[in-house]
Amino acid sequence: MQSQEIRKQFLSFFENKKHTIVPSAPMVIKDDPTLMFTNAGMNQFKEFFLGNKKPKNTRLTDTQKCLRVSGKHNDLEEVGKDTYHHTMFEMLGNWSFGDYFKKEAIQWAWELLTEVYKIDKEILYVTVFEGDDKEGLGKDIEAYDIWKQYISEDRILNGNKKDNFWEMGEQGPCGPCSEIHVDIRSAEEKAKVSGKELVNQDHPEVIEVWNLVFMQFNRKADSSLEELPAQHVDTGMGFERLCMVLQGKKSNYDTDVFTPIIREIETITNSKYGKDENTDIAIRVIADHLRAVSFAIADGQLPGNTGAGYVIRRILRRAIRYGFTFLNEKDPFIYKLVDTLENQMHDTFPELRSQKGIIENVIKEEEHSFLRTLDQGLQLLDNVISNSKSKIISGKKAFELYDTYGFPIDLTALILSEKGYDLDTEGFENELQKQKERSRKATKIETGDWHVLIEDDEEEFVGYDMLHTKVKITRYRKITSKKEGEMYQLIFNLTPFYPEGGGQVGDKGYLEAPNGDVTYILDTKKENSLIVHFVKNLPDNLEAVFEAVVDTDSRRNTAANHSATHLLHQGLRSVLGTHVEQKGSMVSEDYLRFDFSHFTKVSAEELKQVEEFVNARIREQLPLEENRNIPYQQAINEGAVALFGEKYGDTVRTIKFGESMELCGGTHVKNTGDIWHFVITYESAVAAGVRRIEAISADGAKQYFENQSEAYDKVLEVLKTKNDPVKVITSLQEENAALKKEIESLQKAKAKGLKKELRNGLEEVNGVKFTAQKIDLDQGALKDMVFELGNEFKNLFVLFASENNGKALLTCYISKELVAEKDLNAGKVVRELGKYIQGGGGGQPFFATAGGKNPAGIPEALEKVKSYIL
Ligand code: ATP
Ligand code: MG
Repeated sequence: MQSQEIRKQFLSFFENKKHTIVPSAPMVIKDDPTLMFTNAGMNQFKEFFLGNKKPKNTRLTDTQKCLRVSGKHNDLEEVGKDTYHHTMFEMLGNWSFGDYFKKEAIQWAWELLTEVYKIDKEILYVTVFEGDDKEGLGKDIEAYDIWKQYISEDRILNGNKKDNFWEMGEQGPCGPCSEIHVDIRSAEEKAKVSGKELVNQDHPEVIEVWNLVFMQFNRKADSSLEELPAQHVDTGMGFERLCMVLQGKKSNYDTDVFTPIIREIETITNSKYGKDENTDIAIRVIADHLRAVSFAIADGQLPGNTGAGYVIRRILRRAIRYGFTFLNEKDPFIYKLVDTLENQMHDTFPELRSQKGIIENVIKEEEHSFLRTLDQGLQLLDNVISNSKSKIISGKKAFELYDTYGFPIDLTALILSEKGYDLDTEGFENELQKQKERSRKATKIETGDWHVLIEDDEEEFVGYDMLHTKVKITRYRKITSKKEGEMYQLIFNLTPFYPEGGGQVGDKGYLEAPNGDVTYILDTKKENSLIVHFVKNLPDNLEAVFEAVVDTDSRRNTAANHSATHLLHQGLRSVLGTHVEQKGSMVSEDYLRFDFSHFTKVSAEELKQVEEFVNARIREQLPLEENRNIPYQQAINEGAVALFGEKYGDTVRTIKFGESMELCGGTHVKNTGDIWHFVITYESAVAAGVRRIEAISADGAKQYFENQSEAYDKVLEVLKTKNDPVKVITSLQEENAALKKEIESLQKAKAKGLKKELRNGLEEVNGVKFTAQKIDLDQGALKDMVFELGNEFKNLFVLFASENNGKALLTCYISKELVAEKDLNAGKVVRELGKYIQGGGGGQPFFATAGGKNPAGIPEALEKVKSYIL
């Protein structure tokens, strides 16, 4: 059975059991501070489990793009080495939100596997939670009794907390689970050891395919468990593993999910899969990481230096490095595989097709730059080796290579061992640990439990229409971070404060208590469906009715910048073409930043046109047409622009100004006239094929023009002119150039005179023509003169000192013959004498200079130099 068919059957099986099929959420998570990437199908439903939100159907089914490379679930180091863990994989799931529980979940899982997919019952094992004393939890007898009806009791195994109690993270929904394992070993192997012994023992042919989680608890900040308001089912089946079983393969990589990519890798790199262990690992790593990175970029996450971007960069670099070392690929090649991946998966994941160009470009550029880094790293490592006195390279040096140059540690170890050197692994681990500790301390945030004042799960946002309103605090909690210290988070029954999102910063403002006390709201953010207000101190009376007031000026300017961003987007598409797509944005009261796909620099001429386009829309005074509740599909049909990697509900909000129409949750001006004026301030590149524009509007633009005009007035004043500064400046420049020329020729004449004087004044010391003195000549003229003098003598040793703008300069010349004969070195002389002028320098053995910041030390340097020839 083809993988496409396998996926389809899963979804339609549960559709027939009254589940609604929903799309995969994006793999990159944007509004949950506890999670960077989706690591399980349940993430997007977290709020339903916690009871913060209600699903439209209590039964759902889907296939979810997951990435397990950071945090609680991290399989990165396994990937490629084994045959059944991936970084990015699809998790098939069925969900019950307070609807059915263990009985149906087990019954249907069994029915699907054995009757629809027709998996031989004799290869299946299941596990149930055995209980845990510390948590005060008993064995899951209920699950055991249900399983008994389907499978012989000797195939129902006990599982411990590690394997059979599922948790999403340090906090959050959790519960006991039942796993289904397959034993795909040969009959011969099975005769030797029973499969029972191998379940959950990391055996590559006895593996878990499906996990049925029975969500019953919430793990709190103090790590205690509380019962959830209702019981839920959350199941996750690894799609690639299921394909392996159904296609009778021993490895996920031998299924049709991977074989087309592997064939393409073989062709491009001229290698063969299945012959040699190292080559095989490299090919699996590349095939796997290609998927993770491509899906991440399609979701809008570009490789970068921090956060999620850095994780993606590291995955890609791991693939590049395996190709470099084991497939001998010294040029970019991974980007060439995107085509095959796209062909294979675009039916289920259309984003791969629409984002293909940018995925290829970004990967190619990353490959280029990392291959350069590898090259430099190899040279540095050569240096380290040749300077090392022992056969063991210190962990500190290796860490430096790793940390500063991104040079992978396993590559360092490999190269060292090839050259007969050892790496001080322990020392390296120490350094790594120290660094981790430093960054953990810097970023750790401790989150307390919520104190609930009022039970209320519908916190309404009223900030599109109101900038102040009466509110009550429904719950609050304390958070502590190294950076900000102690803070509190407040949730209201309703709020006018816009939470950071869609690129727009969160609102600031204050709460006013009935007695006039004011509590400042420093920021507003979204956490899943909650709108969280940040304050430094709690108000005295938490139960009061407060007036919540948004800072109007800052909101007005932010709104102007947000609306201007939409017009900019439209302007770019109109001037540069419709290939322009938004890749990121940041809108604050001070300015806006807009990243978009485009392959060349935007010329000054084009920028002018875009700016003019936006200002024309502003002058047209287009009114805001807003629709807060329109079906997604209808909005798209009407021409609204949606963003990739953004999660939209069934109904969306559209923002329209004239021809510009976008899906957007941000705050906007009522009329484009309120933007006042739009100015582009900056254009640059952020990644291959992605450009960035920064711009200002409203008060920011006013301030900009005021500053310009002030600066202009100052220029006129300084130039003592009333009207034409350009003319004055041009004539000053011409005058300046003429003066420079004149000085140069005067210096030359002066040098000529000096040279004569010097020649006559040279001392004879131990057969050396010597002088040391202070000279008032610019550097270029001095150097010319010294070399001319050097041409006349074969035994010259001179040191000149000069002073310019409070800085000292030493110039030393020693005839080449003397250098050889007397073992003198001008570089060494200036380095040593440099200490008197508090500076340093160097050069060649016959000519060197040193600069310093202490001219007062010149006499001493001049005096000391003679000792070199005495
Ligand atoms: P394992 O012990 O094999 O790592 P797990 O206990 O981490 O699995 P769950 O968190 O229960 O797995 O995830 C549910 C299902 O997702 C698993 O039964 C498995 O089929 C699949 N799965 C988990 N991790 C991966 C991975 N890294 N690559 C591919 N499939 C995976
Ligand atoms: Mg795992």
